[in-house]
Amino acid sequence: MSRTSTLYAEFKMIRFLYFLSTLSVAAAAPAGSSPALTYDYVIVGGGTSGLVIAKHLSENSNVPVLVIEVGGSVLDNTNVTSMNGYGRAFGTDIDWQYKSVPQTCGGNSTQVLRAGKALASTSVINGMSFTRAEHVQIDAWQTIGNNGLTWNALWP
Ligand SMILES: Cc1cc2nc3c(=O)[nH]c(=O)nc-3n(C[C@H](O)[C@H](O)[C@H](O)COP(=O)(O)OP(=O)(O)OC[C@H]3O[C@@H](n4cnc5c(N)ncnc54)[C@H](O)[C@@H]3O)c2cc1C
Repeated sequence: MSRTSTLYAEFKMIRFLYFLSTLSVAAAAPAGSSPALTYDYVIVGGGTSGLVIAKHLSENSNVPVLVIEVGGSVLDNTNVTSMNGYGRAFGTDIDWQYKSVPQTCGGNSTQVLRAGKALASTSVINGMSFTRAEHVQIDAWQTIGNNGLTWNALWP
């Protein structure tokens, strides 16, 4: 196996483990407790963005957080769990399949825009590839006032 394909396989596994960890955020209530009836934060959309925010907010166990996701868990969906399954979930019930308006620069054809409809959202149908930003882009975060967010600090 080439170094590139090894790295790609490792990255896919990391993305998959991350996906699993995000699921517990949405599903978990503190052990032995009933689900809270009121919440300090309600996050609509259990996607990559919503679950990252929910994870950080819920690090304070006194802060009840609710995530509402229209799709369900897809852990038993082999179109998602297969490491070689990119594209298999397209056009199925976990794909929103948004239709564009006719594209004037595309011969007036309409296009289908993919988006995940499931817990963990588009990360359940995406390609799991990762393109790292330039170091100057990462270092710019500190320059605009986010102390510690630098290339060297985040590299590990
Ligand atoms: C085909 C494809 C391939 C991709 N490949 C890659 C890749 O290889 N690498 C990469 O880094 N990125 C990739 N991306 C992009 C990446 O997957 C997305 O940018 C990211 O997952 C978006 O996350 P999000 O949480 O912002 O939005 P979304 O994933 O759109 O999440 C929004 C969530 O909100 C839910 N929702 C919407 N309306 C409601 C409602 N009214 N009530 C409750 N829930 C609702 C949806 O069901 C969905 O789960 C790809 C995207 C696509 C479409």
